[in-house]
Amino acid sequence: MITENTPLGVLNKIFGYKSFRGEQEKIINHVLKGNDALVLMPTGGGKSLCYQIPALCMEGVVVVVSPLIALMQDQVFALKELGVRAEFLNSTLSFADEERITNELLQNRLDLVYVSPERLNMENFQEILQKTKISLFAIDEAHCVSQWGHDFRPEYTKFYMLKELFPNVPRIALTATADDATRDDIIKNLHMSGCKIFISSFDRPNIRYIVQIKEKERKQLLDFIKNEHPEDSGIVYCNSRKRVEEISEFLAKEGFKVLPYHAGMDKNTREANQDRFIKEDSVIMVATIAFGMGIDKPDVRFVAHLDLPKSMESYYQETGRAGRDGLPSDAWMVYGLKDIVQLNMFIAQSSAPEEQKMLERRKLNSLLGYVEAVSCRRKVLLEYFNENYPAEYCGNCDNCLNPPLTYDATVDAQKVLSCIYRTKKSGFSFGATHIVDILLGKDNEKVLKFSHNRLSTYGIGKDLDARQWQSIIRQLVIMGFIDVDPVHMTLSITKEAIRLLRGEIRIQLRKNILLPKEKKPKKTKAAFDSYVFSEEDSEMFKKLKALRMEFARAENIPPYIIFHDKTLQEMVQTKPSSLEEMGEISGVGQKKLEKYGDAFLRVLQEA
Ligand code: ADP
Ligand code: ZN
Repeated sequence: MITENTPLGVLNKIFGYKSFRGEQEKIINHVLKGNDALVLMPTGGGKSLCYQIPALCMEGVVVVVSPLIALMQDQVFALKELGVRAEFLNSTLSFADEERITNELLQNRLDLVYVSPERLNMENFQEILQKTKISLFAIDEAHCVSQWGHDFRPEYTKFYMLKELFPNVPRIALTATADDATRDDIIKNLHMSGCKIFISSFDRPNIRYIVQIKEKERKQLLDFIKNEHPEDSGIVYCNSRKRVEEISEFLAKEGFKVLPYHAGMDKNTREANQDRFIKEDSVIMVATIAFGMGIDKPDVRFVAHLDLPKSMESYYQETGRAGRDGLPSDAWMVYGLKDIVQLNMFIAQSSAPEEQKMLERRKLNSLLGYVEAVSCRRKVLLEYFNENYPAEYCGNCDNCLNPPLTYDATVDAQKVLSCIYRTKKSGFSFGATHIVDILLGKDNEKVLKFSHNRLSTYGIGKDLDARQWQSIIRQLVIMGFIDVDPVHMTLSITKEAIRLLRGEIRIQLRKNILLPKEKKPKKTKAAFDSYVFSEEDSEMFKKLKALRMEFARAENIPPYIIFHDKTLQEMVQTKPSSLEEMGEISGVGQKKLEKYGDAFLRVLQEA
């Protein structure tokens, strides 16, 4: 169809975008010259354009392998909307469709064909490909080749045959998993040694990271959603099926459009819920981590964790599902002492070999370091992935927006540790609440029963309140001065604590909990481009969304395939008064202008 197009021309005309992002242009030029490439780019970074644009600049078809059927279909719908000749081949197709697409392939009438890994490995399909003019192989989700990752797909390990069967066709492998081991695996398995590697920053600047202490989780969650995302789509992660049921019921009672998702539900309900989440506006999905893989919804405005994820990797991946479209989004999490103990217990009780347990413990500790961090969270997060964030403050995480204070907490820590030590001398162990009661000098039944009102630590902590002592205990657990019995939640002090008690070391703790509680996080204009609507503009935005939903329903496609929120926002902001002006808006390509331009213009003009 389009043969003499330049990458930039295709980007403008077909996709309606003005300029390339990050490394996109370099990558595209590199493969256009017939070279292999490995692309490491975060979710939402714009990986797909790296093979979709070459598909429209070169003769022949781009063969894209993707393990996720839903994603494949989504991309093909989106490309067709743009007027690109794309199809997919997987097990969901009818025989007739399959034959039609195979014929189109053989007659060089396709720009892109998406195939499942199983399909690519079939000999008869490879024979068809041999008779087809192929411009490029794109191996999406390339980390699936690695046996160490959680998405291992054995079919991927056979893709080295591409090099043998199609020695002159360049390959581009893409992934959002960035660690060195995965990278090496991809190169080794695909026989791509010597290929150029394009690494982008894994920062997601539009995501705001917020971590809070769990006090009343339901109220905290409700406040967060009501204040920040009353009408948005979001995901709430919980770590058990039971909690998913409970929290989704709770939010539904509060009047939100909520759907549950976990592996214990029957397949049809699960799929129906996922479909509604993708196709409707303002749906909140309450889910276990069984949900999310292959969800390409660009306008997820928040990801909330009511339970701690199990590692920084999981946290990055799960929060990364927010804000693929680049608009401001929140990664919000609450955690408490119980969560920390529970995760430690899971590791202790698992039947994994000791080596594996040690690794898991290390991973958990990195996560705990993150949640208790007093410095910029973005920096801590990126540094975990060996990326150096070039500034001290990102301006878009809770610690940057409301810097927590730290103080020399040696004396407070000594009070707690000594209290635990003294109560334990009686031969019993006690939990955090009781220890705090003693420090505060409470004379409740339990304190009296054990004569703990006679301890020298009785009442020595009246200068702080219970929440503050709880915070101190939690921090001391994370720092390894206190051990918690995972079954009874009772406390004991560690060897390291003795040194602290003797005054051989001093410690700093965060004091943020001492600050007056803030009702609503400030809406600070962050380092990225965010746009705050006036009331009128908000109305207009809603109208445009409603129109988009009408089209989406009629065509049975997700609304974002028609226009992204970002595109609608720009319409509201710039208020185009002609088709020509409309065509200037990012995300409005030729085809969409023809198809939808008039309708959207009319709504804009009516207002
Ligand atoms: P990834 O596959 O890396 O997660 P996508 O390819 O889905 O990311 O791209 C994320 C979003 O960014 C998509 O909606 C895409 O249309 C948009 N996008 C990509 N490149 C650009 C660009 N150069 N200008 C504007 N939007 C872009
Ligand atoms: Zn920050």
